[in-house]
Amino acid sequence: MKKLNNYIGGDFINPFSDTYIENINPATGKIFSLIADSDQNDVNLAVEAAKVAFPEWSSKGAEFRSKWLLKLANYIQENIEKFAQAETEDNGKPISLSRSIDIPRAVQNLSFFATAILHDKDEAHHTSTNVLNYTLRQPLGVVGCISPWNLPLYLFTWKIAPALASGNCVIAKPSELTPYTAYLLSEACQAINFPAGVLNIVHGYGHKTGAAIVSHTDTKAISFTGGTQTGKTIASIAAPMFKKLSLELGGKNATIIFADTNLEEATQMALKAAFTNQGQICLCGSRILIEESIYEEFKIKFIEKVNQLRLGDPINENSQQGATVSKTHQEKVISYIEIAKNEGGKILTGGNKVSSNQLPERCKNGFFIQPTVIENLSAYCKTNQEEIFGAVTTLIPFKNENEAIEFANCTPYGLSASVWTQNLARAHRVASKLETGIVWINTWLLRDLRTPFGGAKQSGVGREGGYEALRFFTEEKNVCLKF
Ligand code: NAD
Repeated sequence: MKKLNNYIGGDFINPFSDTYIENINPATGKIFSLIADSDQNDVNLAVEAAKVAFPEWSSKGAEFRSKWLLKLANYIQENIEKFAQAETEDNGKPISLSRSIDIPRAVQNLSFFATAILHDKDEAHHTSTNVLNYTLRQPLGVVGCISPWNLPLYLFTWKIAPALASGNCVIAKPSELTPYTAYLLSEACQAINFPAGVLNIVHGYGHKTGAAIVSHTDTKAISFTGGTQTGKTIASIAAPMFKKLSLELGGKNATIIFADTNLEEATQMALKAAFTNQGQICLCGSRILIEESIYEEFKIKFIEKVNQLRLGDPINENSQQGATVSKTHQEKVISYIEIAKNEGGKILTGGNKVSSNQLPERCKNGFFIQPTVIENLSAYCKTNQEEIFGAVTTLIPFKNENEAIEFANCTPYGLSASVWTQNLARAHRVASKLETGIVWINTWLLRDLRTPFGGAKQSGVGREGGYEALRFFTEEKNVCLKF
């Protein structure tokens, strides 16, 4: 069986422990590869390799680094099908999604930052006729990038690209649930002779490998995407060490539908927002707030569309819903459906695991959940307050604009929201009052990589994207010159 070893200093290396974690295909329930079970020793080795590579990588100009990142992007582009198949096998997401979103976006992440650094600028301040202040932005050194399982290569490259582009050397850890495309990325590095030690990929569990990256005295910054609880643990270790921290955490996002919207379009996008990637995107609209006067009409249309979603083997081009990422996560999502029922929720559709006789032979032991819609719950109950991160959404009626804003803002999270209205004044007014890092108006998940990306409240600290990410991975230095 294929062993996914660490990529350190340009070589593939067995973990010190010589033990491996089983990597399971969530659509079949079968083990299909083995992942290095790394510990502090492996991380130490990676940090040493990165420290050796740093002086040269950081001192070469932006054009040099840009050229290498573009080479990496091109390699993925040329092997897009191989990466897409691996992503689907690892994560259970429909192949159409891996082909059209995950892998193309990984290519874009690399090429975006590879070219952004060619157009960056520094500030200078003429304080008086003989005093000039200017700002140097210098790479930090060795940095840690830790990513989750829901958009594996997409989010892995979203961190690595700006870190490398701004001159740092990286220790990166993908999720132990979805390591395959990160492994393919290390194969890509070797195939194109990417400078050794600049990007090191270490596999393993969060509490072991991840924690070793966070607590290492020589990792100067940690860029983390994952759950809010993990973010708290990481902050408790990294903050007292005065590391720079970027935390992109959980969400409980609202899709807010006013009566004056184009209902057909809003319903279609609310469906996408709720169930794309089986509801396992931090930006998914897991609470749909609907103005009372159109609640019943929306509900009928929405349920009809949910029932038409094609659930099946994710490797099949026609499947719109694939498997939940793991057995443990499947159980977690199902347990929230039980909580919703106990809280008085009415299941409008779904509510169960998909029974094996409804699945193709290959998928009989896979982790599938029926897309589930629930109503009749207070905006303040556990189901509507906690992140479920699965194919479950709730419908909540609201009386007026103020109540919509109150319900949208009433969770501990503040990642994103999507507002549906034809009233421009209302759209701007509501957007300004939502306590989230991102507001979409009459759309969802429309991304421009130049914009700041991140969450308010317990959804995170700091912003990724565009120049924000390049700023995060550099230390500003003010130089004041009197002449
Ligand atoms: P997770 O927090 O369990 O794991 C994320 C990563 O952190 C994994 O690589 C894991 O191995 C590692 N990790 C776990 N414990 C660690 C520790 N103690 N120290 C260092 N690293 C550790 O999250 P997950 O289940 O993989 O992902 C789902 C979560 O990610 C959801 O809450 C979702 O909302 C969030 N997410 C947020 C964004 C965003 O941009 N805000 C994007 C995607 C996912």
